[in-house]
Amino acid sequence: MGASMGAAMWPDDAQNLDELINNADLAMYHAKHASLDALSFYDAGLGAGVRKRRQLAEALRHALEHGDLEVHYQVQMSLSTSEIHGYEALLRWTHPQLGPISPAEFITVAEENGLIGPLGAWVLRRACADAAAWNSPCRVAVNVSAVQFMDANLPRLVHEVLVETGLPPHRLELELTETALIKDKTRSLHVIRQIKALGVGLALDDFGSGYSSLETLRSFPFDKIKLDKAFVEGIEQDRQSKAIVRAVLALGKSLDIPVLAEGIETDEQMSVLRSEGCDEGQGYLLGRPAPIGDLAPKREPMLRNTPHENVA
Ligand code: C2E
Ligand code: CA
Ligand code: CA
Repeated sequence: MGASMGAAMWPDDAQNLDELINNADLAMYHAKHASLDALSFYDAGLGAGVRKRRQLAEALRHALEHGDLEVHYQVQMSLSTSEIHGYEALLRWTHPQLGPISPAEFITVAEENGLIGPLGAWVLRRACADAAAWNSPCRVAVNVSAVQFMDANLPRLVHEVLVETGLPPHRLELELTETALIKDKTRSLHVIRQIKALGVGLALDDFGSGYSSLETLRSFPFDKIKLDKAFVEGIEQDRQSKAIVRAVLALGKSLDIPVLAEGIETDEQMSVLRSEGCDEGQGYLLGRPAPIGDLAPKREPMLRNTPHENVA
């Protein structure tokens, strides 16, 4: 159990009792959002921020109910053979007035407002149904947020969606970050075991960007490590990034877990990763996230011909 507290002071922060309580409430939401687990004091700027997030949540709820969300797919491929291994499903939302909003922003809003459950279930269903219709038996990777992972019903949902869509379990991979796992390890392990028992794969997302990464790898049975794009970004110029990439690749080799490098944007990054023996890659150089309809017509064998072509 955790608690967050908000405080507003009379007479500076409000004209009357209702406003005072409302502003203390806003301060409480701020403390909650910032994961402060502590006390937050009201100020006027904070009120505007919280109101904006509440409005976003309302609009997101509307979008979810009216089918205004979309899933885009980004290719994941073998760096040695250029064979396509799978696609990561990435959620897209275009707000009617504000335009496209980054999932990094609206996923947090969904988590705070109890929307992540239905939203995550929707993405999972959409992605599995899309993948089941692909000609090639490649995987689909679906992101699972930390809050969604806390739901004890997740394994049941995954099972239901696989049955409904007819997607073979080995073609689904769930991407989890460390934050999702470390709060309650025993419980996380229990959920992970149930998911793995279904035959579904698990990838550790954003590896290296959090903390206690090595401990996470030791404790949980991951099928893939996704090396955070921050390391790929620096791989050409800075020695530290290259050393870290090399160490993670060696770690993957000795644990027998394939490593996928995220955020590959240049030929140089790609050739360094290839020469270091990185198994898989993902990034704008290999293909940008695109709507399902934009993935080229189905074709066999699944070999890539040109660098920017997507083949599903
Ligand atoms: P992520 O899981 O690490 O996803 C990879 C992000 O990197 C995506 O951003 C992708 O568009 C972007 N990216 C791919 N290649 C490159 C590249 O070469 N360079 C750069 N700079 N970026 C690249 P996006 O789609 O904006 O998503 C951001 C984050 O939002 C995701 O990070 C993920 O944590 C979250 N997210 C997206 N879709 C979902 C979803 O359906 N469910 C949940 N729970 N989270 C999602
Ligand atoms: Ca991901
Ligand atoms: Ca990532």
